[in-house]
Amino acid sequence: IPDEEDVRKEDNIRSLTMLDHFGFECLPHQLVNKSIQQGFSFNILCVGETGIGKSTLIDTLFNTNLKDKKSSHFYSNVGLKIQTYKLQENNVQLKLTVVNTVGYGDQINKEASYQPIVDYIDAQFEAYLQEELKIKRSFIDYHDSRIHVCLYFISPTGHSLKSLDLLTLKNIDTKVNIIPLIAKADTLSKSDLQKFKFKIMNELVSHGIQIYQFPTDDQSTAQVNSSMNGHLPLAVVGSTDEVKVGKRVVRGRQYPWGVLQVENENHCDFVKLRDILLSTNMEDLKQQTHTWHYENYRCCKLQEMGFSDVGPNNQPVSFQEIYEAKRQEFSDQCQREEEALKLKFMQLVKEKEATFKEAEKELQDKFEHLKRVQQEKTMQLEEERRQLEEEIIDFYKMKAASETLKTQVCTNIKKD
Ligand code: GDP
Repeated sequence: IPDEEDVRKEDNIRSLTMLDHFGFECLPHQLVNKSIQQGFSFNILCVGETGIGKSTLIDTLFNTNLKDKKSSHFYSNVGLKIQTYKLQENNVQLKLTVVNTVGYGDQINKEASYQPIVDYIDAQFEAYLQEELKIKRSFIDYHDSRIHVCLYFISPTGHSLKSLDLLTLKNIDTKVNIIPLIAKADTLSKSDLQKFKFKIMNELVSHGIQIYQFPTDDQSTAQVNSSMNGHLPLAVVGSTDEVKVGKRVVRGRQYPWGVLQVENENHCDFVKLRDILLSTNMEDLKQQTHTWHYENYRCCKLQEMGFSDVGPNNQPVSFQEIYEAKRQEFSDQCQREEEALKLKFMQLVKEKEATFKEAEKELQDKFEHLKRVQQEKTMQLEEERRQLEEEIIDFYKMKAASETLKTQVCTNIKKD
């Protein structure tokens, strides 16, 4: 029983002070246990030119050997290589999907380079939206393939971003959390790297490109994240090679003048990237994907389909009303199309009828003509027959006369 009540007028919710232990403070533990049981999934998209070090960095991040063979520069269009792996750290299972661009930047047509990436990101949102719209949804075993983070690899030119970088980033910045990385940062000197970082950030701002901002609202990560925002773009170096430094064996790159230690924060930002991706911001990246990028896609898609939260007079409208209006609109459209089809059909029938009539008339004329020709021929034959009969009669007459003459001659001869 509460001994103190606070009635908040604005929302009429009373805040009660608990006098006893109820146990719902264990709710977070329940969530943790459930999440551990279900396992986690994380989807990374790596965008960068062929040979820039994408696969090596992923291998370095997860201590794996996912790279199978060297990528070629001679693909006619950009492809996406999707590889899913199950990783385990203590009792936490992570289903990691790495989507790697293949042939990016190797085409003359720049649109051909970024469009497959945009299409892929949209396709994953569309698959999720379709699952959401199903009557029988199965999110428990649904493999959520939406991209949670895009690691964008920038060439370590020391100059500026390339036009392809700007084009691609501009086209994907509202669809995915972008973390820009300066690849192969060991090829730049410390001062050049600082200048390059500064230049890139200025270019991103001047082109209005949104990149992932590390959240500073959570006290536990605020300090790390606010300093991290100042380190962007992260200068990374990848290597799975083990090199001896003093008595220690570290992952690094051996050069004639020394060893670059991948996990040494004075040498590069690899550890920072690993920390933000895997230990501090993975959940935020997933949340941002769901509540911001996916929501954006879903909103545009539903608006495209004609759905809206408010009607023409800014009054809220229900889904049911919109559905009914859409159904009516659809049935009207069907009716209009049916009428147009009927009209077209009638017109076609008329045209065909006229053609048939024409053909029939032609046939009739031909028939009449042939009939006339036939009649003339019959008459001609009749005439010929009649003439022939007369000739036959004449012949018989002549024959009879000659017979009579012959008999008379014979009689006269006998008498003589
Ligand atoms: P991908 O085509 O982008 O996946 O590039 P790869 O990971 O296959 O790397 C291409 C080449 O770059 C390989 O010979 C790597 O050893 C080398 N490489 C990868 N990362 C780095 C790096 O950080 N610094 C330097 N100097 N070379 C690297």
